[in-house]
Amino acid sequence: MALEQFDLVLHSITEITPKLRHLEFTRADGQALSFIPGQFMTLLLKNSAGELKRRSYSLANAPGEKTLALAISYVEGGIASEALFNLKIGESIKAMGPAGRLVLQEEPAIKRYLLIGTGTGIAPYRAMLPQIAKRFQNDPHFKVDLILGAQYRPDLLYAADFLSFAATHPRFEFHAALSRESSTLAAHEHQGYVQTYFDSLHLHPTEDVVYLCGNPNMIDDAFKILTEKGFASTNVRREKYISSN
Ligand SMILES: Cc1cc2nc3c(=O)[nH]c(=O)nc-3n(C[C@H](O)[C@H](O)[C@H](O)COP(=O)(O)OP(=O)(O)OC[C@H]3O[C@@H](n4cnc5c(N)ncnc54)[C@H](O)[C@@H]3O)c2cc1C
Repeated sequence: MALEQFDLVLHSITEITPKLRHLEFTRADGQALSFIPGQFMTLLLKNSAGELKRRSYSLANAPGEKTLALAISYVEGGIASEALFNLKIGESIKAMGPAGRLVLQEEPAIKRYLLIGTGTGIAPYRAMLPQIAKRFQNDPHFKVDLILGAQYRPDLLYAADFLSFAATHPRFEFHAALSRESSTLAAHEHQGYVQTYFDSLHLHPTEDVVYLCGNPNMIDDAFKILTEKGFASTNVRREKYISSN
């Protein structure tokens, strides 16, 4: 089935760092977008030669909200980066979607999800929070560990949202893996890459399901480590953030 195409109007901009923004859009036609938490939209852009280019962005808020949120990391000279960082409130951009299979599944034998992301690769998990809250209500043994990798503390996208969710949901733990931060670390922060943190998580290959999202090198590295530790490849679900063309 062909994906729905629509215009998105920029509603608000939140600067997290000079190279990281949270953008909220509405649909120009006023319709809601029906999607599953974890899915992405694809923006349709023209490069300087007038060629159509597609760039995908994970939806960073849950379905049913008034706006569609995206987290955008700026890539120097990138077609979409330049378009999105120069877009003004009220201006529009073409999009289609939703698509993607990095979504939570009904699987009662699974006791824990490890949701792992680097940079903006954490965005799909923010969209999943209401769904996770429902799962906690329905399954008293279900747990979630969310691990966000970034270089420095200010790059920890949506950390405040995850910390506040953890404060009200005791079976949700938020861990930040900081590869370059040199200041004193908070209790939920750790020095190093997300992969170096695996041993502290007491992995259980038959009861855990791992989601990996973001930097392709992190994903390949983590996938290798996890499958060597006994995880079935179907229980390590991946979404690499790469440009399509
Ligand atoms: C399913 C999916 C979901 C995605 N979700 C998000 C999201 O939520 N937020 C987000 O910011 N991005 C996301 N991405 C990545 C996004 O689609 C673009 O690839 C990214 O924004 C760069 O696009 P661009 O047009 O600005 O740069 P391009 O024009 O594609 O690239 C310009 C130059 O930078 C290089 N480059 C591209 N990406 C990077 C990078 N990350 N680091 C360093 N160099 C790079 C390219 O090789 C090229 O030389 C997602 C990708 C996929 C496939």
